[in-house]
Amino acid sequence: MSDQLSHHYEQQLAYLSLHDSLTDLPNRSFFIESLHQWLEQLNQQKQRQQIAVVTLDVDRFKVYNESLGSTGGDSLLQALAKRLKLIARNDDIVARFGSDEFALLIAMNQTDRIEVIAQRYYRLLNEPFLVGDQSLFIALSTGIAIAPQDGQDVQTLLNRANQARIQAKQAGGNQFQFYRSSMTQAVHKRLALEQDLRNAIGQHQLKVLYQAKINAQTGQLAGAEALIVWQHPLLGQLNPEVFIPIAEETGLIIEIGAWVMFEACRQACLWRQNHPNFHISINLSARQFLSDQLIDQVKRAVGICHFPADALDLEITESLAMVDIEHTTQTLNQLKALGVQLSLDDFGTGYSSFAYLRAFPVDTLKIDRSFIMRIGTENAIPADEKIVTAIIAMAKSLGLSVVAEGVENAYQMEFLRQHACNLLQGYYCGRPLSAHDFEQLALQRYNVNLASE
Ligand code: C2E
Ligand code: MG
Ligand code: MG
Repeated sequence: MSDQLSHHYEQQLAYLSLHDSLTDLPNRSFFIESLHQWLEQLNQQKQRQQIAVVTLDVDRFKVYNESLGSTGGDSLLQALAKRLKLIARNDDIVARFGSDEFALLIAMNQTDRIEVIAQRYYRLLNEPFLVGDQSLFIALSTGIAIAPQDGQDVQTLLNRANQARIQAKQAGGNQFQFYRSSMTQAVHKRLALEQDLRNAIGQHQLKVLYQAKINAQTGQLAGAEALIVWQHPLLGQLNPEVFIPIAEETGLIIEIGAWVMFEACRQACLWRQNHPNFHISINLSARQFLSDQLIDQVKRAVGICHFPADALDLEITESLAMVDIEHTTQTLNQLKALGVQLSLDDFGTGYSSFAYLRAFPVDTLKIDRSFIMRIGTENAIPADEKIVTAIIAMAKSLGLSVVAEGVENAYQMEFLRQHACNLLQGYYCGRPLSAHDFEQLALQRYNVNLASE
């Protein structure tokens, strides 16, 4: 090989090692090396200058990838890369870190304001992207850390920009957030909680509480919903809203979900000995629902003491899992084939519930608490009663049964009864209680003796 040719290849290899082949943008190594150099300059310079390190990713990229196919996903990333290059000013560096994650390096002089620059990026990224013959809007979560105040070395700055990005994502995405020192504390807290959660099952800190479900027409006890709580040794009782998201993200939900299902079915089996019609409802989270272990979990749970599948009711909520209607329908059909009952929880809060109703083989709608809570109170608004009446009428015409959740007063109870709601649930009928306290409630209030002799 001639010297000239080998020189050409060397150059090409050097280029490839610093660039991303899909988008032709600089890659992570290039970015880190440039940031090093800029930080050195920043340290030497006397005049005050700042460098912004920005990381961003596409909200729900997985969903785009699944619905567009991986070639479509690639085209979207290429279009995004091109757009970022177009928006970038001369000295800005745009890099791709991998998958849907990009980074920007923005050097600022005294007159630049990062808020203004970020706004400009956002405005131009909000224009639709053309992928194939589709015009797509995408949302991004962006985190920003600024040298020197947020850090003076590459790793600290990148970590902090990422922390801010995660914060942006947790706040609902489609936004940018600046790093704040309080975030480090929040991250430490969360990491500690995650560690604790790993031990919580083995150390019996998770408990299942039971909330009564009442037949609206007869006032009799019909069953219960299992609700998990965490008795944390230092922090006291933690509600599912605090730790289910962590369990979801870490995958611990699979183990926790299996445990709840087993435990609730075991308990319900005992109660059914004295009250044969008693049914138990269990909540499923998105990741659990998507897991290929779900069907086995359910089979195992109903296998215990030959629990009749139709006395088990699985509650699902609208969430990311629901984006893929086809897959969801398939899973729901498999569950139906086992004979279990299916409920759509928090109904009315989602944005496309009607599409689900058509596609999903559900048996029951649970009207979200937010429609019930003002009825019969001084904050009542007429629309609530109308919405509830309409949901019940629609459910009935589709042959579905209706549960109202969050019933807190006698007026609501009577209103729902008159409008032919099937089941009621809420503090007015009974709070979530330990198995022992639930037996007391059943006996004293509903005249049912659940406890075995
Ligand atoms: P959800 O399934 O909609 O459960 C109803 C929530 O409303 C429960 O909150 C319950 O305590 C509360 N609630 C019931 N009646 C009333 C009322 O009259 N007034 C008021 N203000 N609140 C009432 P909780 O226990 O904090 O559970 C929150 C959510 O966490 C549940 O919403 C469910 O989505 C999820 N969750 C609970 N247990 C599990 C579980 O074992 N697995 C999974 N994946 N998620 C769970
Ligand atoms: Mg529920
Ligand atoms: Mg609910």
